[in-house]
Amino acid sequence: MATASLSGFPSLASHQRLTDSHGRVIHDLRVSITDRCNYKCVYCRTGEAGAQYPELRIDEYLRLIGIFVGLGITKVRLTGGEPLLKRGVVELVKELAQLRTQSGEALDLAITTNGHLLESLAVPLNRAGLNRVTVSMDAVDAATFERITRVPGSFATVLASIRAARGAGLTPVKINCVLLRGFNDDQIEGFARFAREEDVVVRFIEFMPLEEGRLWSPEIVVTLREIVERIGRVLPLVEMPAREVSETARRYTFEDGRGEIGIIAPVSQAFCGACSRVRLTSDGKIRTCLFSQVEHDLYGRLRSGASDGELRDYIVRTVQGKEARHHIGEPGFLKPSRSMVHIGG
Ligand code: SAM
Repeated sequence: MATASLSGFPSLASHQRLTDSHGRVIHDLRVSITDRCNYKCVYCRTGEAGAQYPELRIDEYLRLIGIFVGLGITKVRLTGGEPLLKRGVVELVKELAQLRTQSGEALDLAITTNGHLLESLAVPLNRAGLNRVTVSMDAVDAATFERITRVPGSFATVLASIRAARGAGLTPVKINCVLLRGFNDDQIEGFARFAREEDVVVRFIEFMPLEEGRLWSPEIVVTLREIVERIGRVLPLVEMPAREVSETARRYTFEDGRGEIGIIAPVSQAFCGACSRVRLTSDGKIRTCLFSQVEHDLYGRLRSGASDGELRDYIVRTVQGKEARHHIGEPGFLKPSRSMVHIGG
């Protein structure tokens, strides 16, 4: 139950979960630790490199994440930009691994990365306490992959990283593939075979209007239904039961039980009703939805000397106002104030 705090705003009694006004429990925090990226994927960036927003110090991310964890967060995913570019990322993971959830357990700690720097970091990250890694990979054909990332040699580097992550025990290694019609939709069947051969979970993601440029249209989105049909023609799929209601991916295995495919369909089958996520940008703003039009300056309050209790109250109030759902594809849809690379995917 909400209790009055000294600042006059409601705060949570200990062991109460962070919830929004739609009754959703928020337990999943995504933190961007830099908006710099060493890839310039054609569907994400315009070609500009470098940061657009300032970054916090590692100890500042740690303090803010610690407050979220005190409010019931159980999963933390570090992302970016490219999170492995952030100096001190291994130390951050090590410190996060020491935090405990409200029920006294270790956090579920994951990183989403393009994999370019992962080969040598897989073992140190695993030793620091990272549980899992998701590597973004939008083609299984080297030439297509490098046309997308605009970095020569990137395919071999990322493949070596995926194998290193598996070898380091960061399993199951998940591969995120954003599909765009006419760009890389010819890779679908190849990815199904890749999942089985490399023993990774491949997750196709429907393209959302979150790019820096203007590429998105309903026609460019390759939908869940189309992906399932196309894979099913070469390797019949069997749908797997969901493990939790807030799971974003619909999961499938193959008839012989070897390999797993996931499909994340925010456009054709939105899952906002079960959303359990909140985001912190690299410059310390809370975003309650990928498509939020407003941000909430948590770091500004930290910098002006707010106590942990005051920051906690601010988070509670902000999360209460989380949007009911996104409006992709509806008349009057407005792109969010930041693109994916600057929000943290
Ligand atoms: N650099 C890291 C990486 O490549 O995974 C983390 C940041 S990246 C923005 C996170 C994920 O967002 C990637 O899997 C990327 O493909 C995905 N992404 C980028 N733009 C997207 C869009 N418009 N729609 C759907 N996913 C997108």
